[in-house]
Amino acid sequence: MIRDILRRFILEKANVRGEWVQLEHSWHQLLERADYPPVVRKVLGEALSAAVLLSATVKHTGSLILQIRGDGPVHLLVVHATPQGEVRGLAQWTSVPEEGSNLSTIFGTGHIAITLEAASNHERYQGIIALEGDNLTQALEQYFARSEQLPTRLWLTSDHNTCAGLLLQRLPSDKYASTEQIDAQAEDWNRVSLLLDTLTTEELRDLSAEDLIYRLFHEETPRLFDPKSIKFHCHCSRQKIETMLRSLGQDEVQAIIAEQGHISVTCEFCNANYSVDAVDAARLFTENVVDLANTTVH
Ligand SMILES: [Zn+2]
Repeated sequence: MIRDILRRFILEKANVRGEWVQLEHSWHQLLERADYPPVVRKVLGEALSAAVLLSATVKHTGSLILQIRGDGPVHLLVVHATPQGEVRGLAQWTSVPEEGSNLSTIFGTGHIAITLEAASNHERYQGIIALEGDNLTQALEQYFARSEQLPTRLWLTSDHNTCAGLLLQRLPSDKYASTEQIDAQAEDWNRVSLLLDTLTTEELRDLSAEDLIYRLFHEETPRLFDPKSIKFHCHCSRQKIETMLRSLGQDEVQAIIAEQGHISVTCEFCNANYSVDAVDAARLFTENVVDLANTTVH
């Protein structure tokens, strides 16, 4: 079976749209970069699936960043999904939460932020809510309930091998719909919601999109669109690190190099290491801001 794909679908009879995702290789690549305790790994995998589903849901062409911050054992979790199907993510913890922990024992008191970055300029839209609910699915359903008019249901799962998710969203009703039509749509949504409640973790993790959607929703006239592949990719670069160092200022950069011999920056998403020594630093602040990566120095 092909993993690492996103499938969009609609349930024509019920007027509901959906997305399904299953990640394996990209998930393994993300996991290779840190030794996550199982509880942290589980919520990170669920968040990664959620980011892919949410980025496909919003009417938007840029990247989506889902971030959780709290004062508990895990103080930061961040996952990033681009419109090109590239994902990355990480979590940071100071102590290991107990097995079977709920969200508040993992993150403490915290919040969940979803940021949409526009592809072309630096515009951002960010929605933030307090972190509530026993698990990430409940927290994100809360997020939808507060920020969107359209009813949305989510199902997320993750283990050491696979992470997966399913999202259903009611399509907007016609603004001239009669009371009967509105009632019928509410009934359709209830019926589909009840069908979703019968889904098992194993089905979500193991079945293909076709098998799962047909098994659950075969009476709702499902229609699947072409798969989109998802891969692990990090956007860090030497150029971005140099821009960051320039913004620190020459005095600060030279002070660190005087003390440590060089500046070493490791990307937390992908573990790539960038090292800047005294010669690099001198170049950073004497040359104009051009693409130095393509210049050979003799
Ligand atoms: Zn990186």
